[in-house]
Amino acid sequence: MAGGQWGNCKGCRYFGSNNPNPGDNETQRCNQQELRAFDLKVSGASGCNAFEARAGAGAAQYQEPAQPAH
Ligand code: SF4
Repeated sequence: MAGGQWGNCKGCRYFGSNNPNPGDNETQRCNQQELRAFDLKVSGASGCNAFEARAGAGAAQYQEPAQPAH
C-alpha cells in the first residue's frame, strides 16, 4: 500500500462522495486502487495512510489523527 501521510476520508480524493465538502458522518465507498477490492464503506471521519487530498480541497483538509480509527 502507498506509504503516504494519514488523512481523513472526507478530504481524500478516493472518498466516493459528490459533495464538495463532505462531513464526518457521511458514509461512502473508498475508491482507492488497492482498497477498492474490499468494497470498503468509510465515513468522513475515517482515514488511512493512502490518503490523497481531494482536488480543490488542498492541504487544508489534512488533519492529524485525533485517535486511532479502530
Ligand atoms: S480509506 Fe484511505 S484511501 Fe480510502 S477514502 Fe479513506 S483516506 Fe482515502
